[in-house]
Amino acid sequence: MKQKTISRSAKCAGVGIHTGAKAGLSFKPAAIGTGIRFVRTDIKGKPSIPAVIDNVNSINRGTVLGNGEVKVHTVEHVLAAISGLGIDNLLIELDGVEVPAADGSSSIFVKLLDQAGIVEQDAPRKVAVLTEPFSYEENGIQFLLLPNKTLKISFHIEYPNPIVGCQFDSLEINADTFREYIAGARTFAFFEDVEQLKKEGLIKGGSLDNAVVIDGDKILNSEPLRSPKELVRHKILDLLGDLYLLGVPLRAHIISSKSGHPSNINLVRKLREQLNKSNSAIKLIPGGAPAEKSGIQVESTGSMTMGINQILERMPHRYPFLMVDRILEFEPGKRVVGIKNVTINEHFFQGHFPGHPIMPGVLIVEAMGQAGGLLMMKSVPEPENKVVYFMSLDKIKFRRPVFPGDQLRMVLEMLKFRHRICKMKGCGYVGDDLVAEAEMTAMVVDRDTIPDNEGR
Ligand SMILES: [Zn+2]
Repeated sequence: MKQKTISRSAKCAGVGIHTGAKAGLSFKPAAIGTGIRFVRTDIKGKPSIPAVIDNVNSINRGTVLGNGEVKVHTVEHVLAAISGLGIDNLLIELDGVEVPAADGSSSIFVKLLDQAGIVEQDAPRKVAVLTEPFSYEENGIQFLLLPNKTLKISFHIEYPNPIVGCQFDSLEINADTFREYIAGARTFAFFEDVEQLKKEGLIKGGSLDNAVVIDGDKILNSEPLRSPKELVRHKILDLLGDLYLLGVPLRAHIISSKSGHPSNINLVRKLREQLNKSNSAIKLIPGGAPAEKSGIQVESTGSMTMGINQILERMPHRYPFLMVDRILEFEPGKRVVGIKNVTINEHFFQGHFPGHPIMPGVLIVEAMGQAGGLLMMKSVPEPENKVVYFMSLDKIKFRRPVFPGDQLRMVLEMLKFRHRICKMKGCGYVGDDLVAEAEMTAMVVDRDTIPDNEGR
């Protein structure tokens, strides 16, 4: 199966349900490997925010992405449409702070994406599959995920209200079922909650045009429910949108009981952690036919790997400071996984706590930075004439020491990249143990602009 984008742009405009702010939204085609990105065209420099879990800023009744000051509110319904239609690469330009609510469902986005023409790109799609069951529970909310060849969602909701009551639905999710059953399911709210939500500064743009409002045993809207299962189907829609923040389509049977945005987001964080580990319940595979035929046993072979000679070609560092031995996975513009084998012969063990050999923490960060540098180099023209400088390091945590004999695995994800400046999240693992993490900002610089210190 190939990656997909759209062939031309399409746009709409409207009011956001929570902020009440009006915004225009346009879908634009994006290159292979771009992923889904929001672009705030009303802000100087048009900053972009990749739709990935690390950029989730808050989850009060809707999912908000943020990168510093730059935010996008209520991303879940548009992401559900993108996920449901199987689109991999897309820019969502927004000239305001919140995605238009339209009728409270994903219908308008499906219509726009269809108008824009969904097209295949010349690169294989990569999907995440489960290799074993995975469960997650919080406050009476339960998720059970089972290995499955396709994405299937079974959802149960229960509210002490006669209109909603107990509802259950279970569906294979593909473009056809999404269009037919899920896309049109609207947001719902209870009349008695409306005052409280308004007090919290939410639903400023809420109205009977963009949400089903339930008052006891009545629906206040003139349009009746679109199906007896509309409400549980909207919960499936929300889950689909939140799940796409994994950054890669997931194939699994997800059984959810009573989940909402906060628990959906926590689930996606757990899944993302699993995806970053080596022997975990979830792994990346090339999407399409092989997975469909043989189910879940396909190993991860789809990503680009690099041996030491390719690393030496691309990186300026040499002994004793080259700290990447091999690249195991490489997704341009997105993610890199590299390893550094730590042996007792490392030069730094001679002087750093002699007799007590542990790898200096700053060098763990350096190793992550070097792997991240490779990721950045792949995203700029003429990488052979460039070097990468750190600009800032943030949220650094060292969780356990790294000893001789350990294999350090560096997992770097690109959070933002513009004007040669890149923000990345780095995690270092030994086996399944997280040993260090850091957020790093780095800049690509031309080699010939570096001052040579006046010949000294
Ligand atoms: Zn929703």
